[in-house]
Amino acid sequence: SAPAPEPDPGSRPASGGGVLRVALPVPLPRLFDYLTPAGDGPVAAVGSRVRVPFGARELVGVVVGLPAEADVDAAALKPALAVLDAEPLFRGELLDSLRWLVRYTHAPAGEVFATALPGPLRHGEPLADTHAWAWQLTEAARTGLDSLRSGKPRRLAERLQAGAVDEDALDDSIDGWRSAARSLQQRGLCERIAVPASQLAPAPAAGPTPNPEQQQAIDAILTSAGQFEPVLLEGVTGSGKTEVYLHAIADCLARGRQALVLVPEIGLTPQLLSRFRARLGVPVHVLHSGLSDGERARTWAACLRGEARVIVGTRSAVFLPLPDAGLLVVDEEHDGSFKQLDGIRYHARDFALVRAKALGIPVVLGSATPALETLHNARIGRYMHLRLRQRAGDAKPPAVRVVDVRKRPLQAGLSPELLQAVDAALQAQGQVLVFKNRRGYAPVLLCHDCGWSAQCQRCDAAMTVHGGGRRLQCHHCGARRPAPNACPDCGGLALQSQGAGTERIEEALRERFPDVPVLRIDRGTTQRRDGLQTLLAEFGTAPGILVGTQMLAKGHDLPNLTLVAVVGIDEGLFSADFRAPEKLAQLLIQVAGRAGRADRAGQVLLQTHHPEHPLLMTLLSGGYPAFAEAELEQREAAAFPPFAYLAMLRAEAKQVEAADGFLQAARRCIANVADDTLEISGPLPAPMPRRAGYQRSQLLLSAPNRPGLHEVLDRALGEIYALPEARKVRWSLDVDPVDL
Ligand code: ADP
Ligand code: ZN
Ligand code: ZN
Repeated sequence: SAPAPEPDPGSRPASGGGVLRVALPVPLPRLFDYLTPAGDGPVAAVGSRVRVPFGARELVGVVVGLPAEADVDAAALKPALAVLDAEPLFRGELLDSLRWLVRYTHAPAGEVFATALPGPLRHGEPLADTHAWAWQLTEAARTGLDSLRSGKPRRLAERLQAGAVDEDALDDSIDGWRSAARSLQQRGLCERIAVPASQLAPAPAAGPTPNPEQQQAIDAILTSAGQFEPVLLEGVTGSGKTEVYLHAIADCLARGRQALVLVPEIGLTPQLLSRFRARLGVPVHVLHSGLSDGERARTWAACLRGEARVIVGTRSAVFLPLPDAGLLVVDEEHDGSFKQLDGIRYHARDFALVRAKALGIPVVLGSATPALETLHNARIGRYMHLRLRQRAGDAKPPAVRVVDVRKRPLQAGLSPELLQAVDAALQAQGQVLVFKNRRGYAPVLLCHDCGWSAQCQRCDAAMTVHGGGRRLQCHHCGARRPAPNACPDCGGLALQSQGAGTERIEEALRERFPDVPVLRIDRGTTQRRDGLQTLLAEFGTAPGILVGTQMLAKGHDLPNLTLVAVVGIDEGLFSADFRAPEKLAQLLIQVAGRAGRADRAGQVLLQTHHPEHPLLMTLLSGGYPAFAEAELEQREAAAFPPFAYLAMLRAEAKQVEAADGFLQAARRCIANVADDTLEISGPLPAPMPRRAGYQRSQLLLSAPNRPGLHEVLDRALGEIYALPEARKVRWSLDVDPVDL
């Protein structure tokens, strides 16, 4: 193999002895040349997978070019072992879009292609079968059935006597049929056969008649069919956004096109899927992290073959091939789960926009609380901005009350006012959600008497608590100082670093309200995908208390929820991360929207040490739009995104000197090729400076425009990869980082 820096877009089939330029999933910023394999397997084309020797290993890569000659002496090239696809797996738009992603993330092309594939395809398996399986009796069964004693195998055999039955139907009718089938199969009485995938779906059910705003939105989207049109659909939870998607998807299907809907990890609920299935009258394919590798591979294949017409999926579904694409939807487009935080650090919403542009189709971004980047794009006219202002049906918006907890006696972080409100809601036969904001914020130091918090003197940011509470540090400029023993404002001694966990809250509530169920929902209590579903079903609709974090902010319907009490927002108010106010505002709106969705008015209670904080005041008086307006102004003044373009180099090592040493050297490489509009900060400790025994540091780049940022990275990365310091650390580059 030999270095080959630039992909060649040619797509001539390689003839024997030709050269294959291959992207391999290795952390090296280059491509590798091989000779076409001997023998008469499939002919390689751009976008086909190949299996190649790599050192002592074999790797599966993707052909990205068929150059006339290799960059090194052809005699030095090894032949590939096999071409794995007769038809290229990556074609047309998806291939082009992934090449764009390679340039944008500055990641090795082979790693980008690997990220885009489900496991089995990544490991070289053939494209999965997409037919369904059925069982039928064998010839031998004609005479052998009489020998069966009564029992499951016999019941199954009787069921199959009229002809083959597919596995879904067996699942629905005979419990434990699989072991019965195996036992019949062992005796040669029945066999498994492939049948065309079931296209059966209920006839589409009619939905409610769209209200005028919904109709306007639907019309605008339909008018854009067949051309690139980014649309922001802004509307609170329950305003009928999903209805708009459904109409747009139905239209897309009627035009013979595929529709892809991206949803956040926790938004992909069984309710959502059955609503889609019932309304669209076609099978709905899914892709999410709870599926097996085999299921993911089947969805991928069904998309490539055009069999999947409607796909609902989480982040990685943005990589599905869509040969007949007609519409993309990103629901809850502001959601953090669309950004991949390791490996190839892509943002599924942003990549969906790139794909929609390449495909020439509309992309609808829906949210009650659009990302500030998205709002900015709508304001400057880059996106069409559609609004749904009413709640569909007659649900009323909840009443919001701020509870000042300064100097109040707290029990597991809960104030007497909060406990009283919980009591009242339970007495009125309602359900209560006690919501603890816990977004992995680094802890900040807070005075419980007056609300003072430790701020950096040189930055607009809170300092974070380190060294077991003894030290304060700023993540932006690196400033450090010892933590004070008494509050500098009021002299009080009630300084505490923020954070009472959900377990403590659950305990306190159980003690105080022994007669109602108290159910804690977090990652620990809901390991399985349907775990949350099951727990909530058991919880029912009788008076009771849910305690939870972000997982409960949306998704599952909780019609009897009349009080939402939010605690732990103060960390978000003073976090070091410039995105924290946005995340907090979105979360508050989101969780408040859970109260009183049915015909009962809801109440929301915000417990804080900072009742006069501008974020809360703006949010309460003007809602999310007013907050966003104010926040965008601040971002512009401080030159933060969307008014600046960021990239983050991260490094980790056992010794902090190694991580910092690498970043220092990288900083020099960058400074050598950058002009003075590029700001470089760091190396600084990461928000979590030590994780799993590794010391973590980061270097932040900020540029006034995107091309400038990418040019610097293009010019500096070759040298950075080659740094001797790079060998002592694990490092990564994150363009558009979200966690600062
Ligand atoms: P969102 O996606 O914005 O949360 P949905 O589309 O899920 O909103 O709508 C919320 C609820 O209101 C659903 O139960 C839906 O069936 C109902 N709904 C939506 N639009 C209408 C309408 N035009 N008339 C009556 N009910 C509607
Ligand atoms: Zn104080
Ligand atoms: Zn600072």
